[in-house]
Amino acid sequence: MNQLIDNYGRKFEYLRLSITDECNFKCNYCLPDGYSSPHKKHFLTVNEIRNLLNAFSELGTKKVRITGGEPSLRKDFSEIISTIANIRTIEKVAMTTNGYSLSKNAQQWFDAGLDAINVSVDSLDAKTFYLITGKNIFQRVMQGVQACVDAGFKQVKINSVLMRGLNDRDIDLYLDWIKNQPIQLRFIELMQTEDNADFFNKHHISGEWIKEKLLASGWIRKTALNHDGPAQVFTHPTHIGEIGLIMPYSKDFCNSCNRLRVSSVGRLHLCLFGEEGIDLRDLLASSKDKERLKTRIINALTTKKESHFLHAGEMGGLPIWHL
Ligand code: SAM
Ligand code: SF4
Repeated sequence: MNQLIDNYGRKFEYLRLSITDECNFKCNYCLPDGYSSPHKKHFLTVNEIRNLLNAFSELGTKKVRITGGEPSLRKDFSEIISTIANIRTIEKVAMTTNGYSLSKNAQQWFDAGLDAINVSVDSLDAKTFYLITGKNIFQRVMQGVQACVDAGFKQVKINSVLMRGLNDRDIDLYLDWIKNQPIQLRFIELMQTEDNADFFNKHHISGEWIKEKLLASGWIRKTALNHDGPAQVFTHPTHIGEIGLIMPYSKDFCNSCNRLRVSSVGRLHLCLFGEEGIDLRDLLASSKDKERLKTRIINALTTKKESHFLHAGEMGGLPIWHL
């Protein structure tokens, strides 16, 4: 079996697959004006997703995260989950969601084969949540988080982008919350994109600042495990929950990169930011093209750069969910 290893010795067993760009939220750091597209995009079909994943699986992919846009807006979402879950080598199917329909669907997705779920909850205060996401549904999202635990998900993670003057005061609320909850809370450092420069300058908080705050209050850095990828994980003797810090601006961030990305229109992206991607779509309609697809993916990986060089002042282009 081929393996996906790049020129810097990094192994890629983890694929992040976007299945739609559409979103029903207006997070002020992501889609402040809501989703709109100048032309109708045709997102990957279930059949294309199956062919794509069969190729990746033969190249050693073991974990798939379904993302977007908001992936749960797809009407065939449960079918997409079960299609991926039924591929032999895929050990884990995860998703990232804004939680909009979680309370209604968590059980159905679990039954379809979803193993793990990340819910974005950018504030534990209902008003601030509304201010950031444009949706006044904080309670409903929290009920969704509980529905995941009830449905049997062993791994529920919460994503939060901490921002100065918006939700930075929530940090202590978050830490209190996970005292008795078996949840990994992931603080994602706000990333600058081509179109959020002013917002970024006003609200960006360095991940290092959060890290120092955690260390000063007794949080301990866990030894990194392979599947952590670039996250730095912290535990505390009096807390059941954990903290994961995603700090894309730290200079070693890319050393532990373990993921590739495919966009909702079938382009392979070797990095979250910037590059145009490599089109795979012409090889996705028929399972007969699997070997050519694998070769294209392997060849593309030889061009993966060592780093995104964000720490050296390079600005990210558009993250792939906006491409
Ligand atoms: N709609 C889903 C959600 O919000 O969870 C999935 C897609 S969203 C693009 C995936 C994650 O990216 C979310 O946790 C979101 O907070 C994060 N994100 C989006 N824009 C970001 C930015 N500029 N900087 C840091 N994280 C960002
Ligand atoms: Fe939508 Fe997720 Fe972006 Fe918020 S972060 S606007 S929920 S895609």
